Amino acid sequence: MSLRALISLSSLSKPRPLQTVLALGLIAAALSASAQDKVLNLYSARHYQTDEALYADFTKTTGVRIQRVEADDAGILARLKAEGTASPADVILLVDAARLWRGEQEGLFQPVKSALLEQRVPAQFRGGETAQGAQWFGMSTRARIVIYDKSRLKASDVDSYEKLSNPALKGMLCVRSGSHPYNLSLFGSMLEHLGPQATENWLKGLVANMARAPKGGDTDQIKGVASGECGVAIANSYYFARLMRSSKPEDQAVVEKVGVLFPNQSSWGTHVNIAGAAVARNAKNREAAVQFLEYLASESAQRYFADGNNEYPVAAGSKPNAALSSLGNFKAETVPIAKVGANTAVVQQMLDRVGFK
Ligand code: FE
Repeated sequence: MSLRALISLSSLSKPRPLQTVLALGLIAAALSASAQDKVLNLYSARHYQTDEALYADFTKTTGVRIQRVEADDAGILARLKAEGTASPADVILLVDAARLWRGEQEGLFQPVKSALLEQRVPAQFRGGETAQGAQWFGMSTRARIVIYDKSRLKASDVDSYEKLSNPALKGMLCVRSGSHPYNLSLFGSMLEHLGPQATENWLKGLVANMARAPKGGDTDQIKGVASGECGVAIANSYYFARLMRSSKPEDQAVVEKVGVLFPNQSSWGTHVNIAGAAVARNAKNREAAVQFLEYLASESAQRYFADGNNEYPVAAGSKPNAALSSLGNFKAETVPIAKVGANTAVVQQMLDRVGFK
């Protein structure tokens, strides 16, 4: 029963004291229920401890409590599909542009029209523009960079993704699973640049160059270079910046030991991926969901992405942190996300054929 209905009920007859007390009690109950109802159900593929502060800040400023479900990108999309209209999800956070595109294709999101989001999130980082707004909004970006052993290799040996398949690097390459979204998106963009035959040959070359079967996350690949097991590795920029900012002596030693570069600066630019947010198709708390997206684009949240998790903020005027800035500016590739998203299925088949686990 709404508050307005309660008030009009209570004024139907001339109130007697007891009725007034009861009505006021009901109104108070309705008010406290509506305060408790301010909940946002978040399905998140973000896996960063520092996001806790981000969510706490949102709750502090808005009073909206966040209930979180965590899974990887594919798991979240599968869950949304399975739940259908019964899904409690209000906001979806994914860490891969191809998966954001996939969610959009599968009708799992709803468009959001917000002058604030349009102003804060540049058009190139928004997905599925419709008259009712965009289907999703990128909130931060990360570059897929190259880490190498300075004692064994020169920067010019590994300054493009293509060079990583050079037979001279045999037994040196370390990379996480080929079917991880970070790699599927990188390979999907390579397919756009190189075409199918050259991309498959390139992937075959990567497999031939591996120092070990793919295992672990990006940080493990960076540490593999420092330990000497790997000569060269591929990793997202925030994993490296995290080591740069670590106070642990062993992390500092890793950073000292390795070289780092943004590949493909003399061609199409370094591959960049997006972490972004969407409002779920069947969101029950749509208003709070939009409010949360607007919060993520705010300067204070953009600072959490930059300072908390070493990501590049998307909002114009929001600067990366000092560690990332010290790596310098770089040229980023500009492949349409829809192309990368559409390519990932073909890439997965190539990975199976060349034995890239
Ligand atoms: Fe990650």
